[in-house]
Amino acid sequence: MTIRPCRRCLLQDMPDQAALAASLRELIALIPEEDRAPTALVRRRLDACRACAHLRQGTCGLCGCYVEHRAERKAAFCPALPARWTEQNQEDE
Ligand code: SF4
Repeated sequence: MTIRPCRRCLLQDMPDQAALAASLRELIALIPEEDRAPTALVRRRLDACRACAHLRQGTCGLCGCYVEHRAERKAAFCPALPARWTEQNQEDE
């Protein structure tokens, strides 16, 4: 039986990836406070990722990053052309 990857899920949405999601949360916790995006902005960015065809098992198919980590960094951007993180979800609150 072939297990197909979940194309539209973040790690936090996949119970079988709980250990990896926990490791990712530890990495996110290391981001300095001044470099962190506001919670609402992170949520909007991840909503855009969930709706994006490039999302593959929590990673961005264009840059290879874990989107849940990337979205937490204030200065991060979406690598798609055009970017799927629009001006609304690029800027601070
Ligand atoms: S291309 Fe942009 S919206 Fe799509 S998964 Fe990558 S970071 Fe997210």
